[in-house]
Amino acid sequence: MVKIKVNLKERSYEIVVVSDALGQLGEIITKNNWGREIFVVTDPLVNELHGEKLAKSLAAFKCRVIEIPRGEKNKNLRAMSKLYDQLVKASAHRDALVVAMGGGVIGDMAGFLAATYMRGINFIQIPTTLLAQVDAAIGGKTGVNHPKGKNLIGSFYQPKLVFADVSLLSTLSARELQTGLAEVVKYGVMEDNAFFKFLEENSHHLNPKAFKAPDTKRAALKVWEIIVAESAKIKARVVEKDEHENQLRMVLNLGHTIGHAVETVTNYKQYNHGEAVAIGLVAAARIAVNLNMLDDVSLCRIENLLDKLNLPRRVENITCRKVLKTLMIDKKVRAGNVHFVLPKEIGSVVIKDDVPPEMVKASLKEIGCK
Ligand code: NAD
Repeated sequence: MVKIKVNLKERSYEIVVVSDALGQLGEIITKNNWGREIFVVTDPLVNELHGEKLAKSLAAFKCRVIEIPRGEKNKNLRAMSKLYDQLVKASAHRDALVVAMGGGVIGDMAGFLAATYMRGINFIQIPTTLLAQVDAAIGGKTGVNHPKGKNLIGSFYQPKLVFADVSLLSTLSARELQTGLAEVVKYGVMEDNAFFKFLEENSHHLNPKAFKAPDTKRAALKVWEIIVAESAKIKARVVEKDEHENQLRMVLNLGHTIGHAVETVTNYKQYNHGEAVAIGLVAAARIAVNLNMLDDVSLCRIENLLDKLNLPRRVENITCRKVLKTLMIDKKVRAGNVHFVLPKEIGSVVIKDDVPPEMVKASLKEIGCK
């Protein structure tokens, strides 16, 4: 078990990284007196796969399970309204506890429910996707989408605990695991050379098959525990320095600037979020090489690691013009320059807002844009 403290004064909490330990959660809640009545918010698939274990762990409490249909399309105010209805119908009081068990969609919505019901009740995150364990569940960003934009409605609201049980990841599809791995690689490039090296040396354990096969599962679970814990530590340290996402938290956008543009021009259909981040990471590294900030060897190491993890690093059927246009729209929305987070070596980044457009274009060509 690894415990990581997120130091945010009276809003401080722990991220606990464990394996096969869901059974201990009930005891932890009792010991900390976090709530008497529990509302588990989850989705039908996660509930079917892992709900029974959680129900056993929470058997001592009055506990209700609320399911939200799966997927980003349900992360909206209509679904939120149904969540409020359920709490009101059950006459939930301020001593109720919300437990979010699921991916980032469930965590963001259940967190917003806890942040706003009766002006705030306790909540706990049990992230069940890799992306949620290393990113979404940490930092207190909660909320829903608006038809005009992603995550436009929400608030910062910290959980009492993040309970990241890596054994829950064993039921994820290969593609869902890879989505989270792009964020993991990002952390290594952004902050921690030794962690990046660890990923290079252990990439064979990160193959979803190794994770699932009985003879390799034990070793793989150990590696996953290290990966989730190291990633969570890096995110936690950034959140501590910049809880409300002013300047510093921007470093977390490494790979996301061009990644988002790639997702947008392909209508969120050709690449999932993690794949787009992987492509964005390579684009950022190539811009850095073209600016003489990063050496070729580091670029090669990033590309090789993404290859080993089966993540894409080139695009197909996308034009530079469309990507650049999307970056400019983004710039207008943010009322400023396009900020690029660029690696200067593996483990360290700088933020630059004066990258010449022709340099961006040249780098986009190198990743396959026409
Ligand atoms: P998701 O929540 O949609 O989950 C992906 C799919 O995986 C779902 O269909 C779910 O049913 C399934 N699933 C979840 N756990 C599983 C398991 N253990 N086994 C099998 N299937 C499982 O997607 P996600 O990638 O976890 O999260 C994306 C969301 O997170 C987006 O809405 C994004 O905006 C948000 N996000 C939030 C933050 C933040 O700081 N709050 C950061 C990054 C992303």
